[in-house]
Amino acid sequence: MVGIIANAWAARDSSGHLSPYSFHLRETGPDDMVLRVLYCGVDHTDLHQLKGELASSNTNYPLVPGHEVVGEVVQVGSEVKNFKVGDTVGVGGIVGSCGECILCNSNLEQYCNNRIMTYNHFYKDGTPTQGGFSSAMVVHQSFAVKIPDNLAPEQAAPLLCAGVTAYSPLKQFMDSGKVLRGGILGLGGVGHLGVIIAKAMGHHVTVISSSDKKREEAMEHLNADAFLLSSNEAEMKQTINSLDYILDTVPAFHPLELYLSLLKTEGKLLLVGAAPKPLQFIASDMILGKKAIMGSYIGSMKDMEELLNFWVENGLTSMIEVVKMDYVNKAFERIERNDVRYRFVLDIAGSNLELK
Ligand code: NAP
Ligand code: ZN
Repeated sequence: MVGIIANAWAARDSSGHLSPYSFHLRETGPDDMVLRVLYCGVDHTDLHQLKGELASSNTNYPLVPGHEVVGEVVQVGSEVKNFKVGDTVGVGGIVGSCGECILCNSNLEQYCNNRIMTYNHFYKDGTPTQGGFSSAMVVHQSFAVKIPDNLAPEQAAPLLCAGVTAYSPLKQFMDSGKVLRGGILGLGGVGHLGVIIAKAMGHHVTVISSSDKKREEAMEHLNADAFLLSSNEAEMKQTINSLDYILDTVPAFHPLELYLSLLKTEGKLLLVGAAPKPLQFIASDMILGKKAIMGSYIGSMKDMEELLNFWVENGLTSMIEVVKMDYVNKAFERIERNDVRYRFVLDIAGSNLELK
């Protein structure tokens, strides 16, 4: 079917300001579904992309962000097997990959050289991809996941990028057989889900934050085991050489030496925050402690399914603030000044985009 018009909000330039924008969805094929978007999470990566500050990709405008998309299936192609009209599904950070390489065949399709990002990228036919800040979306069946019936769609949204970004690198520790001591650096969208997931995995969790005002919430509401204010030297010193891993979610430049010193021998810094400026560390700290820095990019579709099940089985709840689309510019301003507890989720279906 050709010519479905989506009503979205887009940025036109690197000011990052979003305003109403309409575009034609791509043509659907037999493996595609059309979604009516219900909710979409707002990720700090959206802000990096809007401002064109990611070294890994240039930003093309108009840009419709959004890659924590929950939608209702309103149309399915003839070859769609696992979904039907009326299902609630999720779409995360990628909407395509080659499907043939070793990575695609090992549930690592997010690292495929031919992956297609959900927005600010191009489908094979050259059509630009556009994200979930939009009334509708077309998605290939292989890049959608069923949202469990007993999970509220707005709760599911942040799991599709932020949640799986924490879950995917943490799952290597899942069956370690001992209580691991983990650090979560940066208590934002990804970080707060990192705390919830690591706690549900049975880890001893230390939040490392630049905001003392988050201490009580981290300990009382997120049930962290310890809280370190990164600017408090005495507090930080007590934790030296004690952590098995740190999940680093900080979106800005930060010297790594301090945090690497908290890791025990063979500890890992799991780097997921996409700081736009180069980070720094001292080689001998790494060598003498046999420490590792490991990057991690979102998660696979399998990780996403696993996380949704893990989330529901453990009865977990994220901390979100649901807002309408006309609040989106304000939401980005608040993300930029570190004033969000802990994820904005846009109520797309409730924002009457069709009427604009
Ligand atoms: P967020 O909600 O803005 O949270 C980031 C947290 O980092 C803040 O809450 C803050 O926590 C801390 N922080 C320290 N210095 C900061 C600064 N100068 N500016 C803002 N925050 C600062 O962001 P997010 O959505 O969780 O994303 C975090 C990073 O992960 C971003 O760079 C994003 O692009 C990246 N990301 C990567 C992947 C991946 O696949 N690897 C996926 C999703 C997101 P405290 O107040 O506790 O210090
Ligand atoms: Zn591939």
